[in-house]
Amino acid sequence: MIIVLKRNISINDKEKIINYLQEKSFRVKEIVGDEESILGAVGHNGIDLREVEIMPGVAKVIPISKPYKLASREFKKSDTVFNVGPVTIGGNRVTVIAGPCAVESREQIIESAYAVKAAGAVMLRGGAFKPRTSPYSFQGLQEKGCQFLKEASELTGLPVVTEIVAPNDANMMKDYVDVFQIGARNMQNFELLKTMGKLGKPVILKRGLSATIEEWLMAAEYIMAEGNDNVILCERGIRTYENFTRNTLDLSAVPIIQQLSHLPVIVDPSHATGLRDKVSPMALAAVAAGANGLIVEVHPNPEVALSDGPQSLYPEQFEKLMCDIKVLAPVMDKELVTIPKTNPVQSIINKTEKHIGAAFQGVRGAYSEMAVYNYYGSEIGYPMPMPTFKDVFDAVLDGRAESGLIPLENSLAGSINENYDLLKCYSDISITGEVKVRVSHSIIGMKGSKLENIKEVYSHPQALAQCSAFIEKNGLKPIAHYDTAGAVKDISLLGDKTKAAIASSASADIYDMQILQEGIETHPGNYTRFAVIKREDVYETTDWNKVSMVFTIKDEQGSLSKYLSIFNKYNLNMTKIESRPVHGKPWSYTFYIDVMFDGDKSLFKEIEEELTNQAEDFRLLGLYQACK
Ligand code: PEP
Ligand code: MN
Repeated sequence: MIIVLKRNISINDKEKIINYLQEKSFRVKEIVGDEESILGAVGHNGIDLREVEIMPGVAKVIPISKPYKLASREFKKSDTVFNVGPVTIGGNRVTVIAGPCAVESREQIIESAYAVKAAGAVMLRGGAFKPRTSPYSFQGLQEKGCQFLKEASELTGLPVVTEIVAPNDANMMKDYVDVFQIGARNMQNFELLKTMGKLGKPVILKRGLSATIEEWLMAAEYIMAEGNDNVILCERGIRTYENFTRNTLDLSAVPIIQQLSHLPVIVDPSHATGLRDKVSPMALAAVAAGANGLIVEVHPNPEVALSDGPQSLYPEQFEKLMCDIKVLAPVMDKELVTIPKTNPVQSIINKTEKHIGAAFQGVRGAYSEMAVYNYYGSEIGYPMPMPTFKDVFDAVLDGRAESGLIPLENSLAGSINENYDLLKCYSDISITGEVKVRVSHSIIGMKGSKLENIKEVYSHPQALAQCSAFIEKNGLKPIAHYDTAGAVKDISLLGDKTKAAIASSASADIYDMQILQEGIETHPGNYTRFAVIKREDVYETTDWNKVSMVFTIKDEQGSLSKYLSIFNKYNLNMTKIESRPVHGKPWSYTFYIDVMFDGDKSLFKEIEEELTNQAEDFRLLGLYQACK
């Protein structure tokens, strides 16, 4: 029942009502609204409502006619809104949760977390326990999976959602998980519902395969009756006679739930349709229907997914979906939830265990990704794409990446100054290797497109300049883009057969595009040299023949030539010198020098000492093997 209180009720009278109801075994909850304050009372005992009605301070008593009480709009008029870490759910918000169906490995869930976060998801999903139709299918990594989820969460700052299948697992899972999911098959597993109610952590309650809306709300009531109000309802399609799609998405459930209940309702278009190309249209339809959020399956490599690959979006498709939601949400008077940028938590910094792969700047298919493969071979697993060079340095510094590959110079365009500046700033990072990549450009269009029909060509200005003869000969309009492989990715999303991109051949495959012609650069001798960076002491290696260093010299006449004479004295063969302005000190310079050293390594400390003494400021950047 709902007891509407008089505006001027005394604290004493209110307490008397609460005590009376509690004595009669009612659970009582006070809800303070702008216009009126009410007490919601739920219990098994029938009492004569008039006994409450006559108590001082009571304006009126309304019985709740629905079988579900706590979940009903009658009980609570305003939308339930709550936070999961930095993420808000409910009310006029659209909260997007994304990730793979299952946690398959540490690398896979971490890569997924970064990918969905980059696109704008605010929570990560991934099943550690997979209730599968067949007992022979992959059943999930279980506790290990929860640990990987937790790690991905710590790295990205995204709270995590995972399914619980048995009450016994709750204790083990609770410290790894931010939101528990109750799967469709368990919607009426009442013991599990009660356990989730007692545990008190937020719960996503999926609608059962053949559950009515009322049965679904009754399941929510089980969780709430144990004292947990943080329930999110999730429509994920129901069984009908239609079998073109995996299930039939009942989108009308969204406005119906919003009328019957104050709980947030989200939509899972992935399990609802089971078909990748139907996921985005239904996700947008769900936002248009007023859903409070989405939970979407996204996999970095759906072809090899251990479960639900055919319904998992490629990260690029998810990015496009998020762009569309950004446009649609305000039309529906909704705000797309974002989380503030955070630094990775301190606890993961200084970890000594081996970290995953190598970070590079750019998107998949970038020449920097080729550098990763050239250096490490194909065993590297997942190279980690990062938006900026600084992100690569940060990932290496805080342990998200074991190493990073950064371009230092191009044989046609010269040095990449930003990376020289970063090498100086990040004093805990050293160069541990180098690799050269031959930059050979291809023109890449949509599948089925023809070179003679291409009108516009997109790429990084440097790549456009390097292919200027080809562009002119074919009468193409060059359009500058921030990135080579990024241009291929964007053209693939546009689907226009008159547009093409200039990038590596590898990027054509990655974005399912077609190479129209390879080797279109004006000068075929185009190479980029990359440094491998690690958070490692320079003297950790004994296998080296090349030295990189950075220094500033004293402000005295002839000091540079005096300094360079040290190289001569020790027969150090200088292969590169680069100068950069010292920030904040106009007309002062920092010098970067590479030398080859094949002398007695035990003497090198002495050389280093001399170089240090003669400079104002000196640091060894790295000792490593030169590439051929
Ligand atoms: C899932 O989200 O991975 C899942 C198994 O969903 P459902 O319970 O809706 O089938
Ligand atoms: Mn799934």
